[in-house]
Amino acid sequence: MDQELAADLQARRADHLYRQRNRHSGPQVPLIKVNGSQLLAFTSNDYLGLANHPKLISAAHSASKLYGLGSGASHLVTGHTDLHHELEQALAATTQRPRALLFGSGYMANMGVLNALLDRRDAVYQDRLNHASLLDGGLLSGAKFQRYRHNDTTNLADKLVTTQARRHVVATDAVFSMDGDIAPLKGLSQVANEHHAWLMVDDAHGFGVLGAGGGGSALAQGLSSNDCPIYMATLGKALGSYGAFVAGSEELIESLIQFSRNYIYTTALPPSVAAASLASVALLTEEAWRQQHLNRLINYFTQQAQSMGLPLMYSQTAIQPLLVGSSKVAIQISDELRQVGLLVTAIRPPTVPKGTARLRITLSAAHSEAHVDELLVALGRLQQQGLVGRAEQ
Ligand SMILES: *Cc1c(COP(=O)(O)O)cnc(C)c1O
Repeated sequence: MDQELAADLQARRADHLYRQRNRHSGPQVPLIKVNGSQLLAFTSNDYLGLANHPKLISAAHSASKLYGLGSGASHLVTGHTDLHHELEQALAATTQRPRALLFGSGYMANMGVLNALLDRRDAVYQDRLNHASLLDGGLLSGAKFQRYRHNDTTNLADKLVTTQARRHVVATDAVFSMDGDIAPLKGLSQVANEHHAWLMVDDAHGFGVLGAGGGGSALAQGLSSNDCPIYMATLGKALGSYGAFVAGSEELIESLIQFSRNYIYTTALPPSVAAASLASVALLTEEAWRQQHLNRLINYFTQQAQSMGLPLMYSQTAIQPLLVGSSKVAIQISDELRQVGLLVTAIRPPTVPKGTARLRITLSAAHSEAHVDELLVALGRLQQQGLVGRAEQ
């Protein structure tokens, strides 16, 4: 076995696609210690800087004293505590949906929804650039699996016209995780409605940062629960905690409780994690300056990068990818930045399409403008050396 595996590993190294973990000690803050050295990181999905917030930590601490650590069982047995229940109610209120249901993680939620709703008689339509968990959920469901061109509502409509399936689900990321661009939810919802398809939106990168009170992309684009019947988001990114939820109608949530294997056959999140998430939801409005500061940094970074001619991909969100192309060069740039104390992740195929390796820069409310300047100066220097390219005019 080991010989055969070693050959595959060697091939991956030769393609500059080998992945390695950084060993890092301490909380998720902009200045982190990696493999012993201090680095300014632009890598985290902790967009609001809540992962190290004292209110989350004390909520988790108090809940552990009252409820112990592990939840001990699944939600349908004895794992569903008052804290989980209250969190579901808070999430439904924040997203303005009738009900919400907690899942162990975003990956499980996406798998769990698609597998509960779809089988061989059905069809699922996915944006080409959707997150792996949506794609995997669609494939595993056994439904006819089709991808449409990125954010292309016309291409989606063409595919929906020819279908004979019983049910149709259109699934999309609201904010694309490796591109940072926003899906045209209004248009997708119209096309889905015209063809009696159900729209499922994965808002892992929008919930907490977009929409009124951080209520997410569906609210930001004015989509009611009818327009977007299946709304999913995670608690491990902007909310700085862990877990995920699905929000929608009474019937949707009850169906998931009855039929979603990824909901039924797994241990409920620790009560302390639910308590931390609950504190985090309250902070979305109590500390609304966080969304505002993040937006200021996004505008500042994109304007400066544009005037320098950096090859940024178009994005108005906290995810600001710098397009490189070659995996080898992307790694080189990432290494050079690390030498000057900056941590930025190189994203390579198969996470992104071939020939589109990039640096995935993420901004957070925990960053200051001086932090952003530090990154811009370093990128400018690499541009002068010819390692970082220029934007096409
Ligand atoms: C991170 C992510 C997920 C998975 O969420 P986890 O809670 O980390 O499992 C799902 N969808 C998208 C778009 C994501 O970025």
